[in-house]
Amino acid sequence: MRDTFLPYGRQWLDEDDVQAVVKVLQSDYLTTGPVIAEFEKAFAQYVGAKYAVAIANGTAALHAACFAAGIGEGDEVITTPITFAASANCVLYCGGTPVFADIDARTYNIDPEEIRKRITGKTKAIIPVHFTGQPCEMDKITELARKHNLIVIEDAAHAVGADYKGRMVGGISDMTTFSFHPVKHITTGEGGMITTNSEELYRRLLLFRSHGITRDKSLMQGNHGPWYYEQQALGYNYRMTDIQAALGLSQLKKADRFLARRREIAEMYTRAFTDCPGLIVPYQQDGCHSGWHLYMIQVRLDRLSCDRRKIYEELLQENIGVNVHYIPVYKHPYYQDNGYQAVTCRNSEQFYERAITLPLFPKMANQDVQDVIRSVKHVLERNGK
Ligand SMILES: *Cc1c(COP(=O)(O)O)cnc(C)c1O
Repeated sequence: MRDTFLPYGRQWLDEDDVQAVVKVLQSDYLTTGPVIAEFEKAFAQYVGAKYAVAIANGTAALHAACFAAGIGEGDEVITTPITFAASANCVLYCGGTPVFADIDARTYNIDPEEIRKRITGKTKAIIPVHFTGQPCEMDKITELARKHNLIVIEDAAHAVGADYKGRMVGGISDMTTFSFHPVKHITTGEGGMITTNSEELYRRLLLFRSHGITRDKSLMQGNHGPWYYEQQALGYNYRMTDIQAALGLSQLKKADRFLARRREIAEMYTRAFTDCPGLIVPYQQDGCHSGWHLYMIQVRLDRLSCDRRKIYEELLQENIGVNVHYIPVYKHPYYQDNGYQAVTCRNSEQFYERAITLPLFPKMANQDVQDVIRSVKHVLERNGK
């Protein structure tokens, strides 16, 4: 057993990140200065999108994308239950209705066929989530969206650096959202980004981020004088600071190195666990490369004499910081109390019963990885039947 607790995820900051932040602290602009623009430009370039809008956090990114998509009362938006609540909450913020489509039992991502079954005359958008970092089946989702005139907002909080059929996640759909929370690929403390190739959506995202206010003369209806600005929509103060953007820019330089290490660790796990009878390793679809935000195993209840909870608790006792991603969103009391009691997504619920998230972050040492492997094997063997 380890003598220190190993968390499931954490940031990696070095002295150059600290210096980048200090430089902004000593400059003229703490917020909405030149570093925001620099970070946006570099991020857009990294994911192969025309535009990027830095924003307060990943949840605000989703909220902004729903606003820009024009989601409102009476609109339905299809998403997955196996995600962080924010992927559905953003629809509620705009007065729309989230509709849950079940996952594919192999990839754990939203199943395009299940999306198709839930499209109605009210459906306005789809929010696929690249769960664990593995890209969703974007060809099929894009085709459905084209056919039914739907907007696609990819939640890529797990998928910085992932690619799908030769294209980076971030430049594929109408909009893609990212999070820079400390457990994600790169961090700004709190932070997020929306990428798009549409100038029109880009303008709406900028408005929404700052109160719905523009100072761009070419976009204004009136002009009372040099002081004049216009509020054209009901936006929020969702701005990111230059302090955060400096950290993001510094972190982005290391994104490829971080990702390579995530992939290396995932490979070590898969190699160690492939022949392990008590668990199922994550299936990876051809034609894409995961961002490996999470490494999820499913325990095989048919090979164990206990449930997932016992395995989980015993791993915690071994100082392995396991986690479970996610409780199906509609199972939360808020959703149960607001019209979702009748929803059942069989694959999602089955996945939830068996899933365990193992520690995975770039700063993990090989010894940490070996500790996890040893503990998982040990706990599974002890509870085998
Ligand atoms: C982290 C996360 C978010 C929210 O990002 P925050 O920056 O924490 O607001 C949204 N969706 C998914 C899938 C996430 O993992």
